[in-house]
Amino acid sequence: MPIDPTATSLLTIDLGALVANYRTLRDHAGSSECACVVKADAYGTGAKAAVRALLQAGCESYFVATFGEAEIIRTAARDATIYVLDGFFAGSGPAFAEQAIRPVLSSLAEVKDWAAFCREYGSALPAAIHADTGMNRLGLPRREVEQLAGEPDLLASFKLALFMSHLACADEADHPLNETQLTAFEALRAMLPECPASLANSAGIFLGARYHFDLVRAGFALYGGKAIAGREPLNAVVRLDARIVQIHDARSGESVGYGAQQILQRPTRIATISLGYADGILRSLGAREGKNGLTGYIEGHEAPALGRVSMDLITLDVTDVPEGIARRGAWVEIIGEHVSVDDLAQQAGTIGYEVLTSLSRRAQRVTLGPEDK
Ligand SMILES: *Cc1c(COP(=O)(O)O)cnc(C)c1O
Repeated sequence: MPIDPTATSLLTIDLGALVANYRTLRDHAGSSECACVVKADAYGTGAKAAVRALLQAGCESYFVATFGEAEIIRTAARDATIYVLDGFFAGSGPAFAEQAIRPVLSSLAEVKDWAAFCREYGSALPAAIHADTGMNRLGLPRREVEQLAGEPDLLASFKLALFMSHLACADEADHPLNETQLTAFEALRAMLPECPASLANSAGIFLGARYHFDLVRAGFALYGGKAIAGREPLNAVVRLDARIVQIHDARSGESVGYGAQQILQRPTRIATISLGYADGILRSLGAREGKNGLTGYIEGHEAPALGRVSMDLITLDVTDVPEGIARRGAWVEIIGEHVSVDDLAQQAGTIGYEVLTSLSRRAQRVTLGPEDK
């Protein structure tokens, strides 16, 4: 690990692993195109560098949540296809057109706004249509798809580049809603003029070829997340280490941290590391009497959390770690070989998506290029 003497925490992003994961997902998708979902700064890993690496690996289509994110992707990928999942608002059409960014239209009203903009602009610009097949979050409900199907003028005003929907339970392969959504998706698709279709997210890719259609939208699994319970995740992309800023000894019976929630049961050597909830290490990862918190690893030695997670600091029990190893300035692995993003999430009572997207902007970032692998 390259060590900058001023760094207090390091977020290492392995673009080689990202690219390897992309290739694996693309292979799983068979003849379907594998698009990459790079919203939320590529799930916290850094969108620009991620997109550059993915472009080199051959990815041509990207999905983001907002227009601002799309603009950033456009600077890295001049010719790529970019979709904005949250769609567009009336008045923002010129901004989309200028940068050749495609909105994902999620209601009939939005379709009408886009069609009106395209007529005014004088060009049938491409957009995706998102239909709701049972998640009740975004998308045209069935009756709106039917209505749209009956309005050829509206459909002729823009280019229907993609028809898509989103699965609510793809991570549970046996969930009956998957099959229900698939059936609904096929029925809705048949109502509209023929165009490429997309239903699967990362987990959906593993539901089998019937879910792949023309394009799959890979997100979490690209970044090393465990997309489906029971299936091994792909390569880890993210690693997080923090430095020990102080080591000290405390007596049995003393408390540690805010709220004095943990009372030491033995003479304890404590390492305080420079990482906290402001770095995305959730407070639920703290320890108290009767509840374990996160575990850090120092050269492979376990160092369990003691007491609450503070904004910038976490206290670890290093009593059983050899003194020469648990020393001021040493690095402690919080996410890495011993603890995956999903492990940490499970311990925090959340999902890996939240852990990834919460990770610190304060940590110094080390990006391992795909060529370093
Ligand atoms: C976020 C998102 C994805 C990617 O999902 P993952 O589970 O991260 O693979 C795909 N499609 C839509 C509509 C999304 O919002």
